[in-house]
Amino acid sequence: MGENNKKKKKRGGAKRRMTAEQTLALKSVNEWVCLAQQSGNNNGDEDMGKGDDFLPETMRRAQVCEKVVFDLHSHSICSDGYLSPSALVEKAHQNGVKVLALTDHDTMSGIPEALEAACRFGIKIIPGVEISTVFSTRDSEFEEPVHILAYYSSCGPERFDEFDQFLTNIRDGRYVRAKNMLSKLNQLKKPVKWEHVIKIAGNGVAPGRLHVARALLEAGHVEDLKQAFDRYLYDGGPAYSKGSEPASEEAVQMICKTGGIAVLAHPWAFKNALPVVSRLKQAGLHGIEVYRSDGKLSVYNDLADAYGLLKMGGSDYHGRGGRFESSLGSVSLPVLAAHDFLKIARPIWRDAIRNILEQYIEDPSELNLNHITRFGIKRISTSNRAKDVINNYLRLWLTREEVQHADFEATMLKLCDIAVN
Ligand SMILES: [Zn+2]
Ligand SMILES: [Zn+2]
Repeated sequence: MGENNKKKKKRGGAKRRMTAEQTLALKSVNEWVCLAQQSGNNNGDEDMGKGDDFLPETMRRAQVCEKVVFDLHSHSICSDGYLSPSALVEKAHQNGVKVLALTDHDTMSGIPEALEAACRFGIKIIPGVEISTVFSTRDSEFEEPVHILAYYSSCGPERFDEFDQFLTNIRDGRYVRAKNMLSKLNQLKKPVKWEHVIKIAGNGVAPGRLHVARALLEAGHVEDLKQAFDRYLYDGGPAYSKGSEPASEEAVQMICKTGGIAVLAHPWAFKNALPVVSRLKQAGLHGIEVYRSDGKLSVYNDLADAYGLLKMGGSDYHGRGGRFESSLGSVSLPVLAAHDFLKIARPIWRDAIRNILEQYIEDPSELNLNHITRFGIKRISTSNRAKDVINNYLRLWLTREEVQHADFEATMLKLCDIAVN
């Protein structure tokens, strides 16, 4: 560093040299990202890591990539995206993404498939979800839809059943809402068939506005999706209908108590972001999206600074194509932002994993094992469950230092006791 006389490499627009802070951040981010690569390469080999050492030496010498592309906002056919989770992961891989968060609307049903595909392509999946909520001022004078992104560890949310019920209620509300939109369209003499919308949404997928918009397009009532929104479906529009979404604060609190990171999605879509950010910060919000494919938005960057929030971002890729869509991986977090995110998230995830493990240690039942392995695809043998859990799940997510952390170590010892008995 600091050698000015060294020749600069000119290759497709030379990048500025990294600062010492960026280099350190990159090293730390890489260490975490490469845990997944190691695990992916070993691909569920039952004999991996025969010793009881939780993390093999090789991981510490994992190759350092020069740039780590994070895309922390994407959708699949499990909500209103166009690609299956595995096709999405494949596309992410083609676009050079190393860490992908699948954040379908109000469901985590695509996570297991995404994780399986990620194993094949050697990229890391952060299990996520984008929760539909409503923000209203205390006097209820104004309301607006707010999306909150949640990011979890490889074991998913703590208190999963409670969290799952929370999402189920939102999804159920979407059926009622879609029906209301159709009856409004009917009154506007733009009839769309319910069966058509359900078919577009796909098997078991709760219908959303985009599905209704596609049905409008296919019925020939509009020329493109944009027109469907501009004319009928925009917030407060003639065919718009509110769902039964929870209050934004409630969703943030739910994410916090289940071991997730709560991030406000696309604040540029709000009429007024300030009251939303200020109230949600009080509820426990961790971050706010600031980066888009057209760069960093200074208004939201300043807002993040003012409220001490993480600066986040992702492509919000749906796979619908067209020139308005940012491609997967096009909104990569700068390394310092990725580092800040992991710095906040990792202790929260570690605690969540520990709590899920402790529950299993207290009662090593199938049900509690399922809480650990919910999103996993690797088999847990009946003879040595604890060792399998360590090999197949914890290695994906925790470094040696994290596993050896004082409060975690006691849990690990108890877990190994179960393995012996
Ligand atoms: Zn959204
Ligand atoms: Zn989204």
